Amino acid sequence: MQHIHDLIGVGFGPSNVALAIALDEKRHGSKPLDALFIERQPSFAWHPHMLLDQAHMQISFLKDLATLRNPTSRFTFVNYLHEKGRLTDFINLKSFFPSRHEFNDYLGWAAGQFEDACRYGEEVFDVQPEKQGGEVQFLRVRSRTADGRVQERLARNLVVSIGGVPNIPEGFRALRDDPRVFHSSSYLKDMAQHPQARRVAIVGAGQSAAEIFMDLQGRPGAPQVDFIMRARSIRPSDDSPFVNEVFNADFTDYMYSQGTEVRAALLDEFAQTNYAVADLDLIQQIYKVFYDQKVARGSRLRMLRQHDVRAVRAASDGIHLTLLDRDVQRESTVRYDAVVLATGYSRDQHKDLLAPLAPYIGPYDVDRYYRLKATPDFHPGIYLQGACEDSHGLSDTLLSVTSVRTGEIGNALLAAQSRARSAARDASQAVQI
Ligand SMILES: Cc1cc2nc3c(=O)[nH]c(=O)nc-3n(C[C@H](O)[C@H](O)[C@H](O)COP(=O)(O)OP(=O)(O)OC[C@H]3O[C@@H](n4cnc5c(N)ncnc54)[C@H](O)[C@@H]3O)c2cc1C
Repeated sequence: MQHIHDLIGVGFGPSNVALAIALDEKRHGSKPLDALFIERQPSFAWHPHMLLDQAHMQISFLKDLATLRNPTSRFTFVNYLHEKGRLTDFINLKSFFPSRHEFNDYLGWAAGQFEDACRYGEEVFDVQPEKQGGEVQFLRVRSRTADGRVQERLARNLVVSIGGVPNIPEGFRALRDDPRVFHSSSYLKDMAQHPQARRVAIVGAGQSAAEIFMDLQGRPGAPQVDFIMRARSIRPSDDSPFVNEVFNADFTDYMYSQGTEVRAALLDEFAQTNYAVADLDLIQQIYKVFYDQKVARGSRLRMLRQHDVRAVRAASDGIHLTLLDRDVQRESTVRYDAVVLATGYSRDQHKDLLAPLAPYIGPYDVDRYYRLKATPDFHPGIYLQGACEDSHGLSDTLLSVTSVRTGEIGNALLAAQSRARSAARDASQAVQI
């Protein structure tokens, strides 16, 4: 008989690493949950192609993988610093916001302690229902290794934590295979393929666009850079204290308890904490760069505000973008050697992965503890991390509540495990009587 895992986690980014920690800390000497995580990258890496030298965290280090759930955990960022011998040096920095390089190292350090529980280099491509007695009891999780082999595993529960997929604007979709057009998620890797680029466009006005602009313009022998945005201005992300309360763990309860309309209004009201905004200090740095260019009477860098990309054409000499300047209603066409799309992410990839289960989990609604609601004849638990913004709030795609959320999912999984074990015990006692 094929082995059945208590849990398969799809993806081993921060969300599922935090879940592995929560499960490890919750077992209190009891038999551990048989959990296996499947990650498509060859080893742990947190947004590796956006690990820019100057980038730092946009969240306090105290919102790490464990502290808010269990401040005494050995997986806190503070304990990581202690083990690396940098705790007092970090204190001297007087900062809540480590560099992204350091946080990636912290996350990798934590992930490394669950090496046996993760299969790297495998991409899950679908999940099938496994029936017994006419009802779905298990899930058949199918993944593909880098060399094309298909693996199949059975699980009682699934936690899908696969992050976002690059959002490519309609006009650029036909150029998906053109290496001169790429998304910010692969920026460092793909930009390295264009060392000779003399003119580069960045499309977008959020944090990634702003970081990429600063990175590109400051490179030795930097190209001409057009920073193209629909907005009239880059806006600062609001991280002021009262507004920041929307990222508190208890705000999730408030959000979830509201009806659809209020939830949508809340997302809209606080969107400027996370979407199409950038850190104020970064905006100030960009302003200074343009100011210095004015002093030097240069023209290498342009910020094209109120500009729409109206047409995209690939030619042998470059990518031609037709831009509409909405201020003066004038179109112009500019040739670029490379175009970076800092156009965000979409978060509905789980629906493709779970498509074979659609008859049971149809509308993909989740309960308060992130479990997909299912028909009565469907028994496995499927939990989503990072795809519940509509119901659980803006913190869902960020790190803010990760440790608390994984504590909640961990409790739900352990409760299901103990129910299943006592049901099995009752059944065997009934047979003995
Ligand atoms: C550049 C950047 C900087 C950010 N900085 C911050 C920040 O400072 N603070 C903050 O709160 N948030 C930040 N975020 C938001 C980010 O979503 C979270 O930090 C965090 O990465 C969420 O973790 P996750 O595990 O849910 O998703 P991810 O980190 O995206 O991890 C998902 C993992 O699943 C794997 N995967 C995907 N599909 C499959 C599949 N089919 N099979 C197997 N594996 C799969 C991926 O390879 C990946 O490793 C940032 C995002 C970006 C892009």
